[in-house]
Amino acid sequence: MQTSIETDILVTGGGLAGCFAAIAAKRTNPASRVFLVEKYGFLGGMATAGFVFPYMSYKSANKRLVGGLFKELNDRLVKEGFMLDASRDFPSRFDSAMLRCVLDTMVIEAGVDMLFHGLVNCVETRSDSIDAKKIVSETIQTKAGSIHATAKWYIDATGNADIVFHAGGKWVMGRESDGLVQPATLNFRVGNIGMLAPNRQIIGVKIKTEKKAGNPLTPRDNCLAFDAGHHQLHFNQTRVAGFDFTDPFAMTAAEIEGRKQASRFIHFLRDKIPGYKRSTVVDLGTELGLRETRRIVGEYVLTEQDLLDCKQFPDRIGLGNYSIDIHDPKGTANTDIRHIPAGKWYSIPFRSLIPKDISNLLVAGRPISATHVAHSAIRILPTCSAIGHAAGVAAGLIAQANSSGTFKDLLVAKIQSLLRDQGAVLE
Ligand SMILES: Cc1cc2nc3c(=O)[nH]c(=O)nc-3n(C[C@H](O)[C@H](O)[C@H](O)COP(=O)(O)OP(=O)(O)OC[C@H]3O[C@@H](n4cnc5c(N)ncnc54)[C@H](O)[C@@H]3O)c2cc1C
Repeated sequence: MQTSIETDILVTGGGLAGCFAAIAAKRTNPASRVFLVEKYGFLGGMATAGFVFPYMSYKSANKRLVGGLFKELNDRLVKEGFMLDASRDFPSRFDSAMLRCVLDTMVIEAGVDMLFHGLVNCVETRSDSIDAKKIVSETIQTKAGSIHATAKWYIDATGNADIVFHAGGKWVMGRESDGLVQPATLNFRVGNIGMLAPNRQIIGVKIKTEKKAGNPLTPRDNCLAFDAGHHQLHFNQTRVAGFDFTDPFAMTAAEIEGRKQASRFIHFLRDKIPGYKRSTVVDLGTELGLRETRRIVGEYVLTEQDLLDCKQFPDRIGLGNYSIDIHDPKGTANTDIRHIPAGKWYSIPFRSLIPKDISNLLVAGRPISATHVAHSAIRILPTCSAIGHAAGVAAGLIAQANSSGTFKDLLVAKIQSLLRDQGAVLE
């Protein structure tokens, strides 16, 4: 087996952010070698392994907020007939299984090299300056042994800032007050729902009655489910709180708790809700969906106020308007939702992708530098896609310059101009 990889840009994590980072890096700089490592045997991250569905908001009235590679992915899904609401201007209900296939195609077509079933759990660094280090290599664990991967530039798209963590970089986790993170959710989908099935509001009333009668079901006291077509509902119903999701032992218990809650709820649907008697479980997440773990400490910490003020940063690399959406970290039924002013949107500054203390690394996706509250809004699939796209453009650009500089030194105007050329929306 090949035991080493040498590349120009190494992207770790094949969620939407990582896929788009790898594709954008290669498209921006076709001469560079771009390598993508993913711990599963398929791409998509939370959108596939976590069975997250559908896309949350990427439009404001009739204005598109996320374009570029995210749009290209969805145009391909529409063309292949695997987007449920394809006739809408802003479709959101993608086919989770076919998403994997389309992502394979896009990554391969771009000329990105890939390794599946590879988990990075060791990062070698050396000192670069008084206050920063440089990544020298990553060690990828596989069933056949370990692989030593060296690159000039690295992108951490693990969703949990694993590379920053293993590199000994700075990170924070959870609420600033007590470190608690949002609960995780095991998503599941129920099919063969009968014509008599009541709507979600009525299921919500039945949930309350059932819980009063002593069945704990899940911590939620309403029904959060999305129409998945074909007489199926996609349930975002479980709420697993109080675990350190970066500790594999705690994760073991959390996964079991997620399945326990899902199973209780599925039995409740079958036994107590008209129309569900012959329902089937179409699928459940390959893994527990993690909303929040580590966040990097970057050159800029995006705040709640930045979002509520709809700040347009001069170094913006993406837009969004999804609400602040915090499922209670204590695991109660509460959700703190605060909407962004209608018809407006916020922006994501490039500086939030740059770790303060690692000079040849960018972070793409969920763990960018933000407060706990700001993170709750920017964590959605479209926004993480835009962030990934931008990280890839920046990496392609810096590799093109064969630069001895750092991401901090990159000309943001150049990144923005390339992003616009590639269909990204920045205004
Ligand atoms: C329960 C839940 C519900 C959500 N609901 C919605 C919703 O309805 N709509 C919406 O738009 N967003 C939703 N989100 C948010 C969204 O799914 C995620 O925030 C988003 O997928 C993050 O994308 P990412 O690419 O940054 O990370 P991820 O999707 O987590 O991808 C990270 C990838 O890295 C891989 N990886 C991780 N560590 C390593 C390692 N050490 N080595 C190698 N590979 C590694 C993983 O396998 C994964 O493929 C939800 C999230 C959760 C958890």
